[in-house]
Amino acid sequence: MAHVKLIDVTKDYPGGVRAVDRVSLEIGDREFLVLVGPSGCGKSTTLRMIAGLEAVGSGTIRIGDRVVNEVPPKDRDIAMVFQNYALYPHMTVYKNMAFSLKLRRRELKLTKADIDKKVRETAALLGIEDLLNRRPKALSGGQRQRVAVGRAIVRNPKVFLFDEPLSNLDAKLRVEMRSEIKRLQRRLATTTIYVTHDQEEAMTLGDRVVVMKDGVVQQCAPPLEIYDHPANRFVASFVGTPSMSFIEGRIVKRDAEPAFDVGNGSLSLPRWMTERLSSYADREMVLGIRPDAFSVERPAGNGVTDRTHGDDFAKLGVRITLVEPLGDRKDIYMTTEARKQLVGRVDARVSVSEGQSLEVFIDMSRAHVFEPGELGVNVTAMNRQNGAMARAN
Ligand code: ADP
Repeated sequence: MAHVKLIDVTKDYPGGVRAVDRVSLEIGDREFLVLVGPSGCGKSTTLRMIAGLEAVGSGTIRIGDRVVNEVPPKDRDIAMVFQNYALYPHMTVYKNMAFSLKLRRRELKLTKADIDKKVRETAALLGIEDLLNRRPKALSGGQRQRVAVGRAIVRNPKVFLFDEPLSNLDAKLRVEMRSEIKRLQRRLATTTIYVTHDQEEAMTLGDRVVVMKDGVVQQCAPPLEIYDHPANRFVASFVGTPSMSFIEGRIVKRDAEPAFDVGNGSLSLPRWMTERLSSYADREMVLGIRPDAFSVERPAGNGVTDRTHGDDFAKLGVRITLVEPLGDRKDIYMTTEARKQLVGRVDARVSVSEGQSLEVFIDMSRAHVFEPGELGVNVTAMNRQNGAMARAN
């Protein structure tokens, strides 16, 4: 059991690449933390510095109470699972799993029987007892990945580190292994740091999710917080499928209340935003709307005098350009008269067709307003703390 702390960790590679830029994070004991972001954002480098496979440029990494900057990987009491499994090809599954225990047999005071017991217990936990005598080349991708996980957990390390462990598996297996890893992590109650580029994987696995871009932590928070209150436009667009729709426009006043001018009319913003938006009046901003905040049918409560309901829905005229069925739901791609592109996700039974012009309803209580630019701050979520910084300092 251990917590892990990164304080202002930076890493420059030769040639002027700053792979990791002042990252501060605190991972709680038994926590499952996921680092996610597009390729090249610095997540693997961060993980490899925690593992000791990459030297720390500047800053401090602690595992438990110990600063580990200068501690070699084998003495950090961590176990890492890689995308490419990294199994020893000439050894059986049994030997692959027993290997690290044998190396440290004396140190851990283990008998041969102890090692055998640990290997068999771990194999049972992962449902790979029948594979113990096989070599890696006689295993499927999913089985190899299980063995790689087995090899990591058999040692009962303080911290698990996963580097894109599921990327080589097909989609169905990936989802199966994902739930298995989560169940296992809960059962073993071991602090876990997991790297992926897949936002869905991040959201389903993490107790907290760290979204990175260009070596910088953009937000660190529980998955729902990231989804509902993204700190900036980058996080908002990276998380969620289909992506949030962004409409450039201007904050205006309508009947003394804030509204967002989208070019062919203005959408009333909910009252709770009034104060937060007061200093942005008449400024170019970006409105963000999640696909599930759109509805085609008039939402219940709309038009009733109850302000908390009726007024939070805004109507917008659109033309449907594409309908993508997804079984129980469907995605509808829309264009406004001012040529803004939007995407909504609605119930499959809602009747809409390509080419149709209609008015859609937008739940403005769930709208976001961002400053312009790729990293534009979400001013409607601004007084929420950035979990990363709040915890680490
Ligand atoms: P991610 O895991 O998010 O895809 P990485 O941590 O692998 O990102 O890489 C972060 C940045 O550092 C990238 O720009 C990458 O090209 C660069 N980088 C990674 N490893 C090296 C290396 N050994 N030498 C030079 N640059 C590197």
